[in-house]
Amino acid sequence: MTDSLMATYKRLPVCFERGEGAWLWDENGTRYLDALSGIAVCGLGHAHPTVAQAISQQAETLIHTSNLYEIKLQRSLGDRLTRLAKMDRVFFSNSGAEANEAAIKIARLYGHSKGIETPTIIVMENSFHGRTMATLSATGNRKVQAGFEPLVQGFVRVPFNDIESLNTAAQANKNIVAILVEPIQGEGGIAIPAPDYLNKVRELCNQNEWLMMLDEVQTGMGRTGLMFAHQHNGIVPDVMTLAKALGNGVPIGACLAKGAAADILAPGTHGSTFGGNPLACAAASAVIDTLEKEQLVTRAASLGNRLLDGFRERLGHQEGVKEIRGCGLMIGIELDRPCGDLVGAALMLGKILINVTADNVIRLLPPLVLTDEQADELIATLSGIIKTFLQQSKQ
Ligand SMILES: *Cc1c(COP(=O)(O)O)cnc(C)c1O
Repeated sequence: MTDSLMATYKRLPVCFERGEGAWLWDENGTRYLDALSGIAVCGLGHAHPTVAQAISQQAETLIHTSNLYEIKLQRSLGDRLTRLAKMDRVFFSNSGAEANEAAIKIARLYGHSKGIETPTIIVMENSFHGRTMATLSATGNRKVQAGFEPLVQGFVRVPFNDIESLNTAAQANKNIVAILVEPIQGEGGIAIPAPDYLNKVRELCNQNEWLMMLDEVQTGMGRTGLMFAHQHNGIVPDVMTLAKALGNGVPIGACLAKGAAADILAPGTHGSTFGGNPLACAAASAVIDTLEKEQLVTRAASLGNRLLDGFRERLGHQEGVKEIRGCGLMIGIELDRPCGDLVGAALMLGKILINVTADNVIRLLPPLVLTDEQADELIATLSGIIKTFLQQSKQ
């Protein structure tokens, strides 16, 4: 069979036609429960009326001008995001990788401004920051990097959730200017660090005048039960990147910065043709409106607890289940064996969309608008499918 699409994805044999909240319907009219939200993108679920109306109204008014001109919607979205995050300024991009590119460029300019000629950023094992050359070089996954050498220089890698390694790296390398880290590693298997890890990273960055740069592309916009995951620690980073849920499916990313980091990019140093155009900003503004109006961030916290309790009750003592962990609506069920086949099984048998990452972690990222009934259906159906899988794949 000829295929006009480059083979970047192995696709499941289903095509969705429409959605509503956490429901999706395929071409045959079969209904599915979406526990993945397009990988943490559609936090408000599918076809949210407020977002749909904002997009269609803006499309009928003005989609794009250029960053050569004033864009009021971008300015007002920037005001809201910086206020929510207690940051000073923002640069808008179109994706998470691009938001991280902006962060990496800020760190390098910051280093050069301090007279460091080869500025180096500390990154983590098992991290994920995107697929562009700089962000795949920052990513801690050989599968993402293999074949793309030479990689971008200027990164040193340490284990995640390990303050000692950070201290050692600090002493060994005079060129360090920043730490780039996810508050919870998403692609890395819903890896949740010790409760005070980010506080210690903050302290270390203060002591050494490094930029603390948080990749909140997956954790941001209410996903973990607070607007931003670092708020669980009561800290503020110097740089934070957002994307995924920011536009509920309309491509938009953001790199926010505070203090010295906020004043680094100047005309000519960075840019984007599409970044922060009126359409994307109208969508993101509607997302923030809705998160606030429907109190979906606290809803994410309580729903997350309901799901964790439910899965622990049904699977906690199941042989083959190593750990059930989560923070808000970022939930991982770790098995003792590779379980990629569960994605297809859940889709075909349970009509549920899930994901498996890091080989043996079932990852759930349901929309924040999931109802209690949908949560209970997810727990019951998926627990059954996992039990069957564990019995059938017994060694
Ligand atoms: C998805 C993701 C990215 C990459 O975002 P894209 O929009 O696909 O470029 C970067 N960092 C994290 C933590 C992510 O989850």
